Amino acid sequence: MRTPLIIANWKLHKTIRESLAFVNKFISIIGKVYNRDIVLCPPFTAIYQVGKELSGTTVKLGAQNLFYEEKGAYTGEVSAEMLKEAGCSYVIIGHSERRKYFLETDKIINAKIKKAESYGLIPIICIGEKAEEKDSGKTREVVGRQMKEALRDFTSTQLEKFVLAYEPIWAIGTGKVETPEQTNEVIGYLRNLLSSLYGYSVASKVRFLYGGSVKPENSTSLLSQKEVDGLLVGGASLEPDSFASICKV
Ligand code: PEP
Repeated sequence: MRTPLIIANWKLHKTIRESLAFVNKFISIIGKVYNRDIVLCPPFTAIYQVGKELSGTTVKLGAQNLFYEEKGAYTGEVSAEMLKEAGCSYVIIGHSERRKYFLETDKIINAKIKKAESYGLIPIICIGEKAEEKDSGKTREVVGRQMKEALRDFTSTQLEKFVLAYEPIWAIGTGKVETPEQTNEVIGYLRNLLSSLYGYSVASKVRFLYGGSVKPENSTSLLSQKEVDGLLVGGASLEPDSFASICKV
């Protein structure tokens, strides 16, 4: 059985003060949750204090990015070791906004996943097609290639804990949502591909999430799909009430 996983990606939102106010209100609404994993991914500046505020709760901490080198002259970057020491257990890697604005390639993403894995951080690997790729029937080809490139050189045992997030790019922050049936179909395809490459046992353990304009109103139908193990939530994770209602589905 795969434990459902709901992740908040705050992107470039929330100061430390705003992050702590969110946590206080969110925890008071949600209480202790045992039958699913909930992860908050604040901006780097708030990570440490959010982690301290979450201690004693069942909510876990994640980051939105990391760098693939250990240390050195890489102004502005943050390492896996720094995130681990700051209390993170998860890290988002390869989000389409990073691919678009920071020119991250499949090769860079693979290097970042390797670094995260070596420090025991669980990577949340984002993959998804553009609108024109969907329209020309290339969804499977694009997401299949992204997944294979992201997982290059890993062993089956290493992969078991990884999280893959299927996020159609045209659905992110647009209010357009992929249908639950189509989401289930794409994730089912990816899980079969994973099974053919690494074996059924691994493919049945890896958690696949959907992301892209998730709201309290559409989360039930998405989560009721057999292949959908959870949700990666951007905009609707910024308010404690709306994120809590998604977490309670
Ligand atoms: C995301 O940030 O990964 C995302 C899916 O954003 P939104 O929920 O706002 O579409």
